[in-house]
Amino acid sequence: MAKSIINNSTIDPNKILPMTYLWARQHYKDGVANNWTPEEISMQKDVEQWKSPSVLAPTERRLILWNLGFFSTAESLTANNLVLAVYKHVTNPECRQYILRQAYEEAVHTDTFIYCCDSLGLDPEEIYPMYESVSSIKAKDEFVVGLTTSLLDPNFKTDTQENIRRFLHDLIGFYVIMEGIFFYAGFAMMLALKRQDKMVGIGEQFEYIMRDESLHLAFGCDLINTIKAENPGVWTKKFQDEIVELIKQAVILEKAYAHDACPSGLLGINAAQFCDYVEHIADRRLERIDLPKVYGRANPFPWMSQSTDLVKEKNFFETRVTEYQTAGSLEWD
Ligand code: MN
Ligand code: FE
Repeated sequence: MAKSIINNSTIDPNKILPMTYLWARQHYKDGVANNWTPEEISMQKDVEQWKSPSVLAPTERRLILWNLGFFSTAESLTANNLVLAVYKHVTNPECRQYILRQAYEEAVHTDTFIYCCDSLGLDPEEIYPMYESVSSIKAKDEFVVGLTTSLLDPNFKTDTQENIRRFLHDLIGFYVIMEGIFFYAGFAMMLALKRQDKMVGIGEQFEYIMRDESLHLAFGCDLINTIKAENPGVWTKKFQDEIVELIKQAVILEKAYAHDACPSGLLGINAAQFCDYVEHIADRRLERIDLPKVYGRANPFPWMSQSTDLVKEKNFFETRVTEYQTAGSLEWD
């Protein structure tokens, strides 16, 4: 049997060469080229703005706290799922090499929120429990945990068509819904603030995180599509309908979050635009796993796709050069 991405007993997981899935290798290299750490970004201006009584409106402060609250635990949830569950079932060595890289990036993201809490002097007992105390954050986290139960079942195996389907279902929950939809209203809010010159340090960190997440999503979709292609009986119409339904539910939850976190919008942007953005993003995700788009929404924030490219021109004398990327590797947000 030729190499297959799951259930291959003929390949030694310790023998990475020769490779079959060169896209996994490319995602690994792109991840390395994007390397960054939160400490490279100055929080000086953010600290001044946070302390000042006049720069940020109360609604903006609340929005910042909510997004820190959501992401601070979501990054750890992602890392745990990845290392404890996805890694176990994806035995292909070049894919595992990428997953190790992704796990490191999730550690950097977790570190980013530690750095933000430390530098702004936030109370961790206010930020970290938000996944339980804020209902629209709790709803998203519970939805993802519910979607990934097979992955976390210690006896789960990808040995039958039905189980491969369950595995795909959970991978879609993890990569497409959690990393691909539930992160993006928050990204848009923090980047919208940055565009108004508010909390630019955190905004820049969110840009780097978003660039990493775009790669995680790209790897996840390639993994999902390869499993589909190698197990042709699995991707039935009924199963496709089930997945579309899940994505629609996720969009409802993400729009509820956008409304709660940002009820009165931001300067020049209203909550309805955040909702349109979520629908736009969901269509891109559906297309990426060969499902028909549902919403047909134009992108209300074209600047979001530019942010993933992050080709920055930094003034060498004003800031450290944090840009290691040599070529734009991301075509979609
Ligand atoms: Mn992450
Ligand atoms: Fe991620």
